[in-house]
Amino acid sequence: MLERARRAFLTGRTKPLEYRIRQLKSLQRFLVERKTEIATALNKDLHKSEHGIPLFETLSLEGEISLTVNKLAEWAAPRPVEKNLLTISDQVYIQPEPLGVVLVIGAWNYPWAVTIQPLIGAIAAGNAAVVKPSEVSMHTAKIMEDLLPLYLDKEMYPVVTGGVLETQELLKQRFDHIFYTGNSTVGKLVMEAASHHLTPVTLELGGKSPCYIDSSCDLTIACRRIAWGKFSNCGQTCIAPDYVLCNPAIQDRVVEEIRKAVKEFYTDDPKSCTDYGRIINQRHFKRVKAMMEDSLVAFGGENDESQNYIAPTVLKDVKPEAKVMQEEIFGPILPIITVSSVDEAIIFINEREKPLALYIFSPDTKLIKRMIAETSSGGVLANDCLVQYSVSSLPFGGVGNSGMGAYHGKYGFDQLSHLRSCLVKSLSMEVANKIRYPPHTAKKVGW
Ligand code: NAD
Repeated sequence: MLERARRAFLTGRTKPLEYRIRQLKSLQRFLVERKTEIATALNKDLHKSEHGIPLFETLSLEGEISLTVNKLAEWAAPRPVEKNLLTISDQVYIQPEPLGVVLVIGAWNYPWAVTIQPLIGAIAAGNAAVVKPSEVSMHTAKIMEDLLPLYLDKEMYPVVTGGVLETQELLKQRFDHIFYTGNSTVGKLVMEAASHHLTPVTLELGGKSPCYIDSSCDLTIACRRIAWGKFSNCGQTCIAPDYVLCNPAIQDRVVEEIRKAVKEFYTDDPKSCTDYGRIINQRHFKRVKAMMEDSLVAFGGENDESQNYIAPTVLKDVKPEAKVMQEEIFGPILPIITVSSVDEAIIFINEREKPLALYIFSPDTKLIKRMIAETSSGGVLANDCLVQYSVSSLPFGGVGNSGMGAYHGKYGFDQLSHLRSCLVKSLSMEVANKIRYPPHTAKKVGW
């Protein structure tokens, strides 16, 4: 498949923008025409609700495609840059060009969003791409394998399914870029494999994204937004707020307000609510459940292994040494850690790996700006959760342990292009060049 994709790429048929636009529009058509199959697979994989799917998976893809189709000519055009005295009469510009064959390795939590979004960037930039959906969301992987080739150039964009072994086999091959979404441990393996061919990588990883709640903010609104950000998709969101930092004086109110929001969203019985998800599989169920063991459950905690169900849960007075604070939770458990001040919150955040997102809830712009200035994370969102993902004019990506490289909108196009420096001179003006040719006499160079 890889060889076929490479041969197809070398024919040059991805070079004209019309080809790329045709493929993108076809992908758009796929998302619309195959809504039912997509929804059924997502429901089987993650108990996603029919009406929630567009919000979390397909609408952003459709938006990304429309934006890309509209802007492609602008993004792909030569980008003139500043000239200096020596280049004043030359053409000096950056020409984006395709890299070649891109490997897209997707994760399972939003399997369409994280697999198709990089593919949009790859198509737009004129690459061929081998698409490897996560085997963990198996129904979705099957739909991608069966249906995508009916809409896209199947030589140029083959879908490869399989698990760890198949992915490892793929990683031995030579690609021109690898775009991986998943956990940091596997991210390191991907980077190691890529190094054998000097293949550049984009790593969209996770981490523990902190959420600071300032005592002065409207706790009802803040907690409703946090509960939405945390418990959507059963907490299996790379940018979900992982834990809350707040003053001990407001902790009980935070618990109460989140409890109220959970009831508002998922009723008194989230288990039978169609809008509440499930943990993807038993391995993750056991992992997430074990995280509650040494902390105090403020509410929630109910679980049922037969359904991989864990109720929306808040833990209070959590110690930094607790199990739940040792790795990304990626489940519906929200620990609260109390800090006496914003200074302490900043220190707490900076003592840990750089997260994918930082959430700040406060009406005080100065405090928000201070936290932005004194911490680091892939992105920051003040007074809301998750919606930074949908702003295509912002690069989406991590920093440090949460990843490298970024995409969405033009950033995705640039990430999967080579930004080639072009300097086009003429053969005239040779007199001006004389100074650089030997012999370099003092008289000639003047120093
Ligand atoms: P996963 O288990 O589906 O793995 C991702 C991909 O890596 C799969 O295609 C899988 O086949 C492959 N893989 C797994 N183990 C491998 C190995 N040993 N060698 C080679 N390939 C291997 O997904 P996951 O890692 O459980 O995903 C969850 C993680 O992804 C979380 O940490 C989450 O924060 C992160 N994530 C990040 C983003 C983002 O945009 N930054 C988005 C979604 C998820």
